[in-house]
Amino acid sequence: MAARESIADLKKRAGKVSRALAKLYPEARITLDFETPWQCLAATILSAQSTDVGVNRVTPGLFREYPDARAMAAADRRHVEELIVKTGFFRQKTRSLIGAARKIVEDYGGEVPSEMEALVKIPGVGRKTANVILGHIYGKPGFVVDTHVRRLTYRLGFTKRTDPAKIEIDMQKILPARDWTPFSMRLILHGRQVCIARKPDCERCAVARDCPKIGVRTAPRG
Ligand code: SF4
Repeated sequence: MAARESIADLKKRAGKVSRALAKLYPEARITLDFETPWQCLAATILSAQSTDVGVNRVTPGLFREYPDARAMAAADRRHVEELIVKTGFFRQKTRSLIGAARKIVEDYGGEVPSEMEALVKIPGVGRKTANVILGHIYGKPGFVVDTHVRRLTYRLGFTKRTDPAKIEIDMQKILPARDWTPFSMRLILHGRQVCIARKPDCERCAVARDCPKIGVRTAPRG
């Protein structure tokens, strides 16, 4: 179905899906708790392979001890590991947090940069984290691709690609820039609650009429 659709038709269908999801999930924000750009970056790094609820349990303690990049750049590695151990992969995440903080202090005077090109050069920061920061902190459109977005954009027939950077490009062609961040946030929520990986609940899905359900009956995609 997707292969036969013109860009105009894809835009129209994406618009319908976008409006339906906006009604379902009006609060289109990431569910991580943070107050500053650094805290947004740190929480997003911690969210890899962990739930946002789990991250929100450890960040109050972490941010009390290390409230900004300067504090984290000088942190004791073992102490950080202890504070974040419950989020999993804590050694790797500690390396990312301290490495990111040092880069931000050394190259950007302690301020999280606001350009994709600079953000992805920071240790532990990929395009997903960079787009979260652009969209949530700097008000710049960023299409966030995580495992849910990858699965849903495929099932919905909006892309056939699996590389997050290419999915971003496909989605940017069919959605207005103002919708990039909120639409991707809503896909994440829909992927968690309805279009789950192993058993999508198509019968109670609000966008079922506009979804070709590609790949639903074959092997589920991450
Ligand atoms: S109709 Fe099914 S496959 Fe399509 S978005 Fe809804 S739950 Fe997912």
